[in-house]
Amino acid sequence: MALTDCPACGKKISDKSSVCPHCDFGVGDASAEDILRKQNLQRYKKKQSIQNQSLMAVLLFVTGFGLLYWGRPAPGDTQFNIAILTAIVGFMWYVVNRVRLVIIKRFSS
Ligand SMILES: [Zn+2]
Repeated sequence: MALTDCPACGKKISDKSSVCPHCDFGVGDASAEDILRKQNLQRYKKKQSIQNQSLMAVLLFVTGFGLLYWGRPAPGDTQFNIAILTAIVGFMWYVVNRVRLVIIKRFSS
C-alpha cells in the first residue's frame, strides 16, 4: 500500500482508497477540472482563514501596545510584562501569516 497526496486537501491518503478520509473528496471519479476547482476552493478558504488570523494578530498587537501606552504600567509589573508579551505575540503572529500568504501566492501562480 503506497501513500499519495489527496488532490483536494493535500493530505496523505492510500492510493487504494477512492474517497479521501480527510475531506471526503472522491479521488477515483474526479476529473482534472474537478480537482483544480476543489484545489482553488481549498486555497481560497485557506487564504481567508489566514487573513482573518492576520486581523486578529493586528488586534492583539494593538491591544498590547494600548495597554502599554494608556495603562502606563511600571516596567517589571505583571501588567507591563503581559502588555509586552501580547504585543510581541501579535506582531510575530502577523509576520507568520504574511509569510504563509506569500508562500500560498507563490505556489498558486
Ligand atoms: Zn482530501
